[in-house]
Amino acid sequence: MKVVFFDRDGVINDNSTYYVYKKEHLKINDGVIETLIKLKENNYEFIVISNQSGISKGIYTEDDTELINQEINKILSLYNIKILEYYYCIHHPEITLCLCRKPSSLLFEKAIARFNIDVKKSWMVGDQQRDVDAAKKVGLNTILIESNSNLTAILKKILNE
Ligand SMILES: [Mg+2]
Ligand SMILES: [Zn+2]
Repeated sequence: MKVVFFDRDGVINDNSTYYVYKKEHLKINDGVIETLIKLKENNYEFIVISNQSGISKGIYTEDDTELINQEINKILSLYNIKILEYYYCIHHPEITLCLCRKPSSLLFEKAIARFNIDVKKSWMVGDQQRDVDAAKKVGLNTILIESNSNLTAILKKILNE
């Protein structure tokens, strides 16, 4: 299958004000719905890969992270859009070294193996250099966007529009 991977905070949802771990923090960025509808029409599936080091730092919990993921799912389901899976790293390098925090590629490798993803036809969209660095390690096409910018800009690259 072909997939567009997304970073979560700063790409799917606004992260300009808060660490996003409460319902009331959640604001879907401009253009996200429209972009996902278009990509779905073009037979792309969606996976989120996210660094959530705030868990390791004790700022919020895994349950908080999953609550936000579920809230995103609720909103997207109104448009018949589904995120296949959310993968996230809970670690912070000052506390625990790991292989899953981007720019490491372990979470991408897991997803690619599980869903039999064709990396040559697939993309990663992130707002940090480490997002695209991780994705390049596994051969994905990549797009680096400005944090919290209108996501429709990626359609030009992915769909050649
Ligand atoms: Mg981000
Ligand atoms: Zn990790």
